[in-house]
Amino acid sequence: MIDLVIIGTVALDSLETPFGKVKDVIGGSATYASIAASFFSKPGILSIIGKDFPKQYIKYLNERGINTKGIMSGDKTFRWQGFYEFDMNEAKTIRTELNALESYKVEVPEDYKNAKYIFLANIDPELQLDAINSIKQPELIVMDTMNFWIEHKREQLLKTIDKADIIVLNDGEARQLFDTPNLVTAANSALKLHTKAVIIKKGEHGALLFTDNKHFNAPGYPLENIKDPTGCGDSFGGALIGYLAKTQDLSETNLRKAVVYGSVIASFNAEDFSIERLRKIKHQDIEKRFKEFREMREF
Ligand code: AMP
Repeated sequence: MIDLVIIGTVALDSLETPFGKVKDVIGGSATYASIAASFFSKPGILSIIGKDFPKQYIKYLNERGINTKGIMSGDKTFRWQGFYEFDMNEAKTIRTELNALESYKVEVPEDYKNAKYIFLANIDPELQLDAINSIKQPELIVMDTMNFWIEHKREQLLKTIDKADIIVLNDGEARQLFDTPNLVTAANSALKLHTKAVIIKKGEHGALLFTDNKHFNAPGYPLENIKDPTGCGDSFGGALIGYLAKTQDLSETNLRKAVVYGSVIASFNAEDFSIERLRKIKHQDIEKRFKEFREMREF
């Protein structure tokens, strides 16, 4: 039985940052989100991979308690190639190869259908909508997206946003999607839709949470060792919903805690390439950094 369905990409990434370079390593929005969520609850992935995807990665996900029955097989895995300059808040895409994703039809395993929590990680918004429609009675839908889909599928994206309870965007995407330079205006535009909460991630500068009349500002963690921020957004979203699925509490106070757990896991993720750092952290590391976040806020 899974607590949480995550639809998104399972990818092979090639990227370069000022601190190194990797080729065809495991990546993808659903990969990062499910690993982050697995610290708190039991996720199941909906996605597609190709014959070129190394089997040991699937084995690793299963060892973490992540259900991969919903990962279909196609010809070639989704691939993303990008780079970061010294300002590592923004990934520059060199190439996106959709490959198997182009003909992917969402197929939901029977034991996913009663899940109460859905995370729509970054993937084609039409597939995000199909995932929502395949789950019997979802109680909470959290959604992420990125500039690629805002540019290519804006209309479909707005339809999916209209079904989401919480949307998670980075600051640039929020400005682009709601066509405003002002983040408060962007958040208010989202809150006029079905959305109950909007979270705007500001990379290393933290995250903002907007609900009806309230506003919370989670600090960024002062990291000295940032190697690769790929997957930080997905790790943030996965940890956030994983924590909410574990605690089953959607109060404002608990949402704030979920934002901080999201920030904690995302900050760890940036410390190494691909999923290397997330593989190594333990619950006590998470709790220690959570405490540091709390202390950073006291004055
Ligand atoms: P993030 O750094 O959290 O925004 O996400 C990075 C991950 O997103 C990488 O591992 C990529 O494989 C994946 N990715 C890149 N472009 C896309 C896209 N257009 N749709 C879905 N996933 C993507």
